[in-house]
Amino acid sequence: MITDPTRIAEILLGLGVINLLGVSENPDGSLIVMIETPKTTQVCPRCAWAGKPKERRSQVVTDLAICKRQLHLIWRKRRFLCPNTACLTKSFTEDEPAIAPRRLRLTNRAAKWATLQVGKYGRSVSSVADELGCDWHTINDAVVAYGEVLVDDPSRIGEVISLGLDESLFVKQGEFRQQIWTTSIVDSKESYLLDMVPGRSSKEPIEWIKKRPKSQERCYQVRNYGSIWSLLQGIR
Ligand SMILES: [Zn+2]
Repeated sequence: MITDPTRIAEILLGLGVINLLGVSENPDGSLIVMIETPKTTQVCPRCAWAGKPKERRSQVVTDLAICKRQLHLIWRKRRFLCPNTACLTKSFTEDEPAIAPRRLRLTNRAAKWATLQVGKYGRSVSSVADELGCDWHTINDAVVAYGEVLVDDPSRIGEVISLGLDESLFVKQGEFRQQIWTTSIVDSKESYLLDMVPGRSSKEPIEWIKKRPKSQERCYQVRNYGSIWSLLQGIR
């Protein structure tokens, strides 16, 4: 059993192999935890030569609340010099996606949780930001980054046997209020939105269906709630 108090705290924090440097409490009860990784080298992202360690710089990263207290990490990130004189990358910062993706200001676990809250449970970005104690953009950037991967995953659609199409006026755009339409594609049996495509013609829904597995294409019972059903007869 581990008895070293610092190591106990590192394990409880659950961020993998990190060094816990210090903890402070803000007057509002939120916590600041300073960490670093023990990493002493990392390959250059451009040329893959081993980088030479340089100074550390702090980056603030929002994490999941711990015991209902908002938690922010100060991550003392190592910088490295690329020793390859022919390389255009002179220096770079350590990267540890298991803690936090390079371009986000949320930890990996907080970004996954936030994406679930917004994408699955329909919470607003601002309410999730309030709960974690960060700004709107921090949450929105994470939801877009993680959500796009999920949306682009072809297996997310699953087995659909009853397809519904519904055109909607999305926005009136510009000086002349040009009408921009979209068509919603829904699983009408399970009653949930699968996708949205631009326009209100049959072209985009047909393209969408053609990207589905052939076995699925034959199974669709196309129903619609608008006026483009007849245009889709050719694909049935
Ligand atoms: Zn390099």
